[in-house]
Amino acid sequence: MTFAEKIAEPRKLFIDGKWIEPESARYFATVNPATEEAITQVPQAGERETDLAVAAARRAFEQGPWAAMKPAERGKKIFRIAEVVEQQAEELALVESLDTGKPLSFTRTRDVPFAVDLLRYYAGWANKFYGATLPTDESALACTLREPVGVVAIITPWNSPLILSLMKIAPALAMGNTLIHKPASWTPLSALKFAEICQAAGLPEGVYNVVTGPGDSVGTRLVTHPDVNKVSFTGETVTGKIIMEKAAATLKRISLELGGKSPHIVFADGDLEAAATFAAKGFCLNQGQICWAGSRVFVEEKVHDEFLEKLLRHVREDWTVGDPMDPKTQMGPLISKTQLQQVTGYIEEGKKEGAKLILGGDRPPMKKGYYLNPTVFDEVDNRMKLAREEIFGPVLAIIPFKEFDEVIEKANDTFYGLASGLWTKDMKKAYRAARRLKAGSVWVNCYGALDVMAPFGGFKQSGFGREFGQEVLPLYTETKTVWFQM
Ligand code: NAP
Repeated sequence: MTFAEKIAEPRKLFIDGKWIEPESARYFATVNPATEEAITQVPQAGERETDLAVAAARRAFEQGPWAAMKPAERGKKIFRIAEVVEQQAEELALVESLDTGKPLSFTRTRDVPFAVDLLRYYAGWANKFYGATLPTDESALACTLREPVGVVAIITPWNSPLILSLMKIAPALAMGNTLIHKPASWTPLSALKFAEICQAAGLPEGVYNVVTGPGDSVGTRLVTHPDVNKVSFTGETVTGKIIMEKAAATLKRISLELGGKSPHIVFADGDLEAAATFAAKGFCLNQGQICWAGSRVFVEEKVHDEFLEKLLRHVREDWTVGDPMDPKTQMGPLISKTQLQQVTGYIEEGKKEGAKLILGGDRPPMKKGYYLNPTVFDEVDNRMKLAREEIFGPVLAIIPFKEFDEVIEKANDTFYGLASGLWTKDMKKAYRAARRLKAGSVWVNCYGALDVMAPFGGFKQSGFGREFGQEVLPLYTETKTVWFQM
């Protein structure tokens, strides 16, 4: 079978190690945003299939070998999954690019290798995260055990589906949990491909299940299901609030990775050329559909013109919009027509609010695809919608400032708190700013530095819990105290 034939094959749900069709026989199309054509049909799970997946995960957790296995053996299985991902890297990269519109040159060199890094990093943690012996006297021996939470529902968004899923799946598996994954309906294909990989790697049945279908039915069922112990969610702040409310009825553990409106500060003494490179990347990478996008760039007034000249040059030269399959392309289309309409709506609103459009705002001349040119607004006031709401598209707000205190106050004047960045050669100033910025990440003289070992997550309404690093491990375990009275 050729790749084209294979990708067009209607998909099935992956439950208990088997591929099954939905009882309702209902399917939905997943669309290639570069061509606006359906790639294939994906099953719409109903309550029955969602419950079957939860039951399979519960059975695998209670009776299967996964949770009870020696942690080192579990680690070996995850290393094996990483190996199969590498063997099937090209297909996985292609699937991800077709489904999301991400340039293939990126999915090949960043997304898939990063997914492998995540698997290997957490495979290594499987037998390195453990409890303690407590300092009792001779009359007792007391210790803590780190046990898996149980059945975990993983609900993920469409903007970087593979990585955003693996950053949850890898640590959750390493800690011995069993999973039901509901990927975003716009981009379900990499999750289904990953299920094939898990099967090929010999992951025991029921440990990883995939149910595709709408968030408000399949997602809600998972969030309210009494047999799901934890929900790990990445998506919009509004959805996170709904999930938190619904999960309260069964007191589920929850991790929420939500939206952002991150400030990126350029002080006059910073390296303006480098700052401009990263400021362009901060809103153009993945078409600006990134939670940590540096969508508010604060520029010290005295270098405003010089910085802007460099920024616009970098956007024009470094961020070519085009077909995701073309190796020269740096920016593909937005994910969907809805998203395109939403982003262009913000551009119109920005013009009405009185911000000065200095680049883009229009669409490139492609006949098909949800493309949009990178767009820059200058003279933005931090109270404008452009500066307050997460646009999730390639739209940048430039906000000039004069003083240190003023910029810190404005940077923090948002209900989000995901990321932030700053440029200065004065390390005392950098440290002072880093201490005062209310965000889960502060990037000094760089922007968007992500690493499997560096915790990532939000302050304020950007969520709670962390991804990456050691910090995520307690979130997929329960601590049990065992006290032996001698
Ligand atoms: P979304 O609309 O909140 O959807 C995310 C996931 O939740 C999808 O799988 C969706 O299913 C599902 N869902 C929707 N309503 C639900 C409900 N009531 N109950 C349970 N699940 C539900 O977010 P998105 O538009 O896909 O993603 C973009 C957002 O994600 C942005 O706000 C971005 O900032 C945020 N994000 C945050 C991070 C981070 O690390 N903080 C990383 C990436 C993205 P359907 O697809 O079927 O609707």
